[in-house]
Amino acid sequence: MSAIYNFCAGPAMLPQAVMQKAQREFIDWNGLGVSVMEISHRSKEFIALTKQAESTLRELMAIPDNYHVLFMHGGGRGQFTNVVTNFLGDNGRALYLTTGQWSRSAIQEARRIAGDQQIDEINIVETVNGLQQVTLPDLHSLDNDYRYVHYCANETVDGIEVFDSIDSPWPVVADLSSTIMSHNIDVSRFGLIYAGAQKNIGPSGLSIVIVRDDMLSLPSLVQSSIMDYKITKDNDSMFNTPPTYAWYLAAEVFEWLKSIGGIDAVEKVNQQKADLLYACIDSNPFYKNGVAKVNRSRMNVTFQLVDDSLDAKFLAQAEAAGLVALKGHRIVGGMRASIYNAMPIEGVQKLVAFMNEFAKQNS
Ligand SMILES: *Cc1c(COP(=O)(O)O)cnc(C)c1O
Repeated sequence: MSAIYNFCAGPAMLPQAVMQKAQREFIDWNGLGVSVMEISHRSKEFIALTKQAESTLRELMAIPDNYHVLFMHGGGRGQFTNVVTNFLGDNGRALYLTTGQWSRSAIQEARRIAGDQQIDEINIVETVNGLQQVTLPDLHSLDNDYRYVHYCANETVDGIEVFDSIDSPWPVVADLSSTIMSHNIDVSRFGLIYAGAQKNIGPSGLSIVIVRDDMLSLPSLVQSSIMDYKITKDNDSMFNTPPTYAWYLAAEVFEWLKSIGGIDAVEKVNQQKADLLYACIDSNPFYKNGVAKVNRSRMNVTFQLVDDSLDAKFLAQAEAAGLVALKGHRIVGGMRASIYNAMPIEGVQKLVAFMNEFAKQNS
């Protein structure tokens, strides 16, 4: 069977080397004679795994010592709730910058919990020359006082990425679900970073939270203990049974990333992959993309066939060629190629060759 390249936006493909290692040690991990998913999360072997996972993640992302790393339940959306319940208390206010589907979902959830009066919104995407472009607002000129400013660094559905860091007088809370570890960032610019694991880190069921120590003294609402950042930190992310197998796979992904040269190395390849794909879209009148160049996502490349009556044929032939899950999100339609860290450049090369050939035959 020739290689299948999976462009799913999430849960997404994992590095093949990680999957093969997991398969080899599926029923006998570390010589214990049992699977890693069958042992106590409080066993010394599993605790060692978690310590290693955290230290490798800290090394990869250069996480400063005054930040805690939490391994939590609830995916990305779980954190939409948690940032509100942990940081807003009864009367705090927060500012949400919206750029697309996921940041809108985050604000919806925030308003559901805190109420409209506590949540302000600034839409920072506008259409410039027919393309969607992000303009960061001058937050220093605002009069209100906010506990935090929330934004989504990469809109997985829309294919819009915010590469500039947010200059803010208040702590910045960022949804990095679909861009974490794809390129270097300065963690010290954030109050809190969160990411559901199933795009760049591992399987679903796990989310990673990186939170600055002083954020944990903001007044929180009474909430489920497993969703409380301070309780989670005080219990080494084991207040209750964590998703151990997802944690194990995440640890393996971190080791893999380190082995290929860390974030510097993967960032270079990610840039090459995105450049290849956007060059194909731009050079071919058969395809289009509606995002300004400065905000084109390096992880989720959205594109449309100019003649959308060919969409179904495109998807069927792509699948037959081993290029799967290219259908765009149901809300926006069109196509989307998610090219996270685990996608090898060969997959993108094959996709580009297919797209050029399909355009030729159908023009
Ligand atoms: C996938 C995704 C989420 C939601 O993740 P769940 O784990 O399904 O809750 C949130 N934000 C972004 C940017 C995402 O890509």
